[in-house]
Amino acid sequence: MRHWLSKRREYSRSAPETESGLGQINGVFTKCRGCKKPVYEEDLKSRFNVCPNCDYHYPISAPERIKLLADPGSFTEMAREMRAENLLSFEGYEGQLEKAREKSGLGEAMVAGRATIGGNPVALAVMDFRFIGGSMGSVVGEKVALTMEAALEEDLPLIIVSSSGGARMQEGIYSLLQLAKTSVELVRYTRERKKPYVSVITDPTFGGVTASFATAADVILAEPGARVGFAGARVIEGATKERLPEGFQTAEFQREHGMVDRIVHRLELREDVRRLLELLA
Ligand SMILES: [Zn+2]
Repeated sequence: MRHWLSKRREYSRSAPETESGLGQINGVFTKCRGCKKPVYEEDLKSRFNVCPNCDYHYPISAPERIKLLADPGSFTEMAREMRAENLLSFEGYEGQLEKAREKSGLGEAMVAGRATIGGNPVALAVMDFRFIGGSMGSVVGEKVALTMEAALEEDLPLIIVSSSGGARMQEGIYSLLQLAKTSVELVRYTRERKKPYVSVITDPTFGGVTASFATAADVILAEPGARVGFAGARVIEGATKERLPEGFQTAEFQREHGMVDRIVHRLELREDVRRLLELLA
């Protein structure tokens, strides 16, 4: 077990990383995971990490997502200083948090605040997968609750962009509690609010986030090819000893089966959300 863990750590250390999080060829080009063609890093960046050849959607950071969605200069962050604590004295957690903060430049795996989209004021929360796999710890849960509270009190539409590997295991039961907490807050919000809630699911969204606020919205949008589910395909295949259908847990599969309403290309997302806000207002 120990050997396996140290080996795994070695692999992750040697994984190529660039600013966009993709495999680097020579600092200028990147080999696309979708079409296998070389792509200019600069071209990718200018298209919010969508491949110009094949439209493969790579993950983007929360600040980039906010830049994509919100009107320029309109975003104001709330609870920026909120920091997780190592309540269970989980070995190495402080170091992991420190590393995640350094790597992402963020305090936590979620950035929440207020903004306008096409002139429409909204409460907006965006998850960042770079921060410990977008895992839902107590601070992420608290930020979701705060964003819903702000939406309710200020009569704003709510937009949450998810990307998460699931629970933050280092916080144990406190992490699992967030499922209940965000769901209770969501019920309270849903009962009293007058404005719509739009959830945007991006690659990958799993575990407690899928099981709570990401799939309990008025409209559920997803990015093309995004993986979305509760447990991952390998876990399910391991437990059931059955082969899963092709494309299982992709946004497209989930749309066919009624869990996702629409698939929206990243570069059309802002306009799509703006139209929805005006239609549902
Ligand atoms: Zn491509």
